[in-house]
Amino acid sequence: MDLTSCPECDAPAEVLDRAVLPSTDGPVEHARVRCVARHVFTLPVERLARPGAAVAAPSAGDRHAVNGPSATHG
Ligand SMILES: [Zn+2]
Repeated sequence: MDLTSCPECDAPAEVLDRAVLPSTDGPVEHARVRCVARHVFTLPVERLARPGAAVAAPSAGDRHAVNGPSATHG
């Protein structure tokens, strides 16, 4: 089962079906999704929100490091 997020309310959404639909740029694979709030959308698969696509970059703090050999990593 494929999960994505609703383009309208950002709730978890399930991919119900996939179909290749013609477009002006040629055939494009679309997915039909339904979120937990029962919004149903058909949109190109490339527009689907994919888990893990947005990587949260670790932001380094702007504080001075405390003295001491602290080697916490990971
Ligand atoms: Zn929704």
